[in-house]
Amino acid sequence: MRATAHPRTGNAERVQSIIARLKRAHPDARLALQYSSPFELLIALILAAQCTDEKVNEVTSSLVFKKYGTPADYVRVPAAELEADIRPTGFYRNKTKSIQRCCQQLIECFGGQVPGTLDALVSLPGVGRKTANIILGNAFGQPAIGVDTHLLRLSQRLGLTRHTDPDKIEADLTPVVPKKEQVRFCHLLQFHGRRVCVARKPKCYSCTIADLCPYPEKTPAPAQRPVRPAFGRKPGER
Ligand code: SF4
Repeated sequence: MRATAHPRTGNAERVQSIIARLKRAHPDARLALQYSSPFELLIALILAAQCTDEKVNEVTSSLVFKKYGTPADYVRVPAAELEADIRPTGFYRNKTKSIQRCCQQLIECFGGQVPGTLDALVSLPGVGRKTANIILGNAFGQPAIGVDTHLLRLSQRLGLTRHTDPDKIEADLTPVVPKKEQVRFCHLLQFHGRRVCVARKPKCYSCTIADLCPYPEKTPAPAQRPVRPAFGRKPGER
């Protein structure tokens, strides 16, 4: 990938400014997935792979969270039935396997509860650091940075990392983002990534943190269309 020019030194102060401005720009930033417990968040995150948060919320609120309340509920249902219930989220066969294996391990190793440590969470089938950190940060209130596609792209463009590997990006971000802001930082970058710093043609011309961003390929403002004179008048005529 293209190396960013911004030095690592000073990133902590720059991050503070980025957070302050993004809080003003996206006061509604939050985790888009709906859940009411660590367990529901775990299931929602498994369903969210290659699927929009809106579709996951639709499926979980209308059926899945009403029908399945505990890990045992997911384990004892025939796979074909669970597949049919989660089918709208896509990749439903693999997701069914992940959910049933994960729930089986929750029962066998953790008394049916979602554990609240990184090591225990990543020991669950289908749970990587991103999912584990999102659960720790949002459901357990711990400082944690879950590097999803938006965090990956924005932290590169903002010159906060030169890596492409999410684990290395997490390691770069963790020391420069204040602990008490880490979860909020993730939500802010996710919202900014959806609304402004989109993957193709980021809207740099209307970005509130453009002067803090070293991205070398900023998108210029669209060219102004020439103002057509009113009918019957020559240009400049009043
Ligand atoms: S200036 Fe452009 S590349 Fe940088 S954060 Fe803003 S939208 Fe993204």
